[in-house]
Amino acid sequence: MKLITFEHEGRLKAGYLDGKTAVICDDGPRANEAVLDYIRGGGTGDWPEKARVALADVHLKAPVPEPLRDIICVGKNYHAHAAEFFGSGFDSGAMEEVPSNPVVFSKAMTSVVGPGDDVLASLDPTRSVDYEGELGVIIGKTARRVSKADAYDYVFGYVIVNDVTSRELQKKHNQWLIGKGVDTFCPMGPWIATADEITDVDAMELETKINGESRQKATVRDMVFDIPTLIETLTATGTLLPGDIIATGTPAGVGIGFKPPKYVQKGDVMAVSITGLGTLENTVG
Ligand code: MG
Repeated sequence: MKLITFEHEGRLKAGYLDGKTAVICDDGPRANEAVLDYIRGGGTGDWPEKARVALADVHLKAPVPEPLRDIICVGKNYHAHAAEFFGSGFDSGAMEEVPSNPVVFSKAMTSVVGPGDDVLASLDPTRSVDYEGELGVIIGKTARRVSKADAYDYVFGYVIVNDVTSRELQKKHNQWLIGKGVDTFCPMGPWIATADEITDVDAMELETKINGESRQKATVRDMVFDIPTLIETLTATGTLLPGDIIATGTPAGVGIGFKPPKYVQKGDVMAVSITGLGTLENTVG
């Protein structure tokens, strides 16, 4: 299933996609949380429909507009990107080009926006806004001490995330929370594909285009630490909860990989596409 949250006739609703049709399963006062509730309920696949409307008549939001907690993000998780970031001068404090262990940080849940929403570069006083197309993994059940072999049992599904970043704030504050947590800097969507829809995770292809120009292109198997390793690492000491979102890192081709850097500006269109997950498009405002 492709789970969606959307506005229709001025109200927030939730359900799933069926081709070019939006199936409405929840149009009540808690529609904002309906997809998260579905995930936390175990995602049985049985979500009774109330009505159907044309996809063209709805405005998609982030499938989980208000995540349970901050997005868990992985840094420097593709070899070529680790090299470009290390070489950019923005990798404050890093001792090694390719990390020996996963680099993990978080991104404020309040920064989430949906497909088509503006990313407000105007909020960044340093005007150094960069894109990071990423595969997001949605956790489906409480996970502690999970081995790599069992890791996919805990994956509910997948979504596109754009880990938009202010490079100067990221550098200035040393730790990444402020530079990554700017309001509107976490576009997500257009839908969550349940795990059964993705037959070969490693073969998923990611491409980021800026104003139609291809900047990032990679497959999931290019990751330094694969999804099972990330889940094993995160649950070795801590707990993942159903509804948690892991942004698994971005491949080479971000703006700071260029000399001089190619930051995005007001009016630029960022489009991230991943196999089976559609295209997440946002304009810089
Ligand atoms: Mg990132």
